[in-house]
Amino acid sequence: MNDHPQPSSPSPARTDAEHREHMQTVQAQVRAAVQSAKDKRGLVMVHTGNGKGKTTAAFGMLARMLAHKRKCAVIQFIKSGKDAVARLLESPNLHWHHAGGGFTWDTQNRDSDIALCREGWRLALSYFADPEISFIHLDELNVVLDIGYLPKDEVLAALRAKRPDLHVVCTGRNAPPELIELADLVTEMREIKHPFNAGIQAQQGIEF
Ligand code: ATP
Ligand code: MG
Repeated sequence: MNDHPQPSSPSPARTDAEHREHMQTVQAQVRAAVQSAKDKRGLVMVHTGNGKGKTTAAFGMLARMLAHKRKCAVIQFIKSGKDAVARLLESPNLHWHHAGGGFTWDTQNRDSDIALCREGWRLALSYFADPEISFIHLDELNVVLDIGYLPKDEVLAALRAKRPDLHVVCTGRNAPPELIELADLVTEMREIKHPFNAGIQAQQGIEF
């Protein structure tokens, strides 16, 4: 699984000539690996895990897409209000929706939470069907599927049947195994430390 080329780090023990020779070998390996990757198609991507950075990493991709003048959609499930990034990236190429009333432990109303998720999913499907859209970020979809607020089979079927030119990134903790199975790219953010556990509150620009 983890067999893509890794540039080896320069070793201070090598002479300059040995370093050059070693780098030429590495270069040949990397070029061969790059050339052997022939497929080009839209990806299903998953950022999951308990560590911080899942949404932020997807926003980085979104910024790149917009820089390439591609049309994008973001649907933020669960959370109330748009992320501050929406203001920065505002563009006719970006469609941003939030389909949430806040954390489930704050709303305490399962029926309205589910209705908001359904509305968000309806919007998502409209972007799946729009050939102009290149990239869709479904924020917190992993959680929504984990807690059963959207029908998992229906969501997975839509992802499986998506247009080949469309990229979709699904973020949130507890991505279901079936989603991980069908995805092309899965990254788990693993918590090593989080300031929250040291009593440090969420801060502007870092969390929101
Ligand atoms: P971010 O939006 O910063 O990229 P995330 O998408 O990985 O974070 P979520 O699961 O969406 O994380 O959590 C949202 C909020 O919870 C963020 O404010 C984030 O900083 C915070 N958070 C993320 N990981 C942890 C953690 N391990 N412990 C406590 N709070 C966390
Ligand atoms: Mg997040």
